[in-house]
Amino acid sequence: MANKKERKEKKIPRFNIKKCNSCVICIDSCPVDCLSMSVASSGIPNHKYPNLLNQAICTGCGSCAEDCPTDAVMMVNP
Ligand code: SF4
Ligand code: SF4
Repeated sequence: MANKKERKEKKIPRFNIKKCNSCVICIDSCPVDCLSMSVASSGIPNHKYPNLLNQAICTGCGSCAEDCPTDAVMMVNP
């Protein structure tokens, strides 16, 4: 179990809807399946984007951000 310091340092992904092209690569990259696609309120028909289902499960590994082809994922402090 993570100690207090590790929990404090863990970053989580934040998604830039405007940059996201709905490719779902980040969904496939996540080793713990804690991302899912949602309908975006961007005005673009059928535009979906990822969101973090469970912050507690996310390990902060950064794979989703590394693999995103459009640079739409930033790792940030929760
Ligand atoms: S990998 Fe990037 S562009 Fe593709 S769905 Fe995820 S956030 Fe969007
Ligand atoms: S940081 Fe890692 S564990 Fe967290 S959502 Fe991204 S790929 Fe999944």
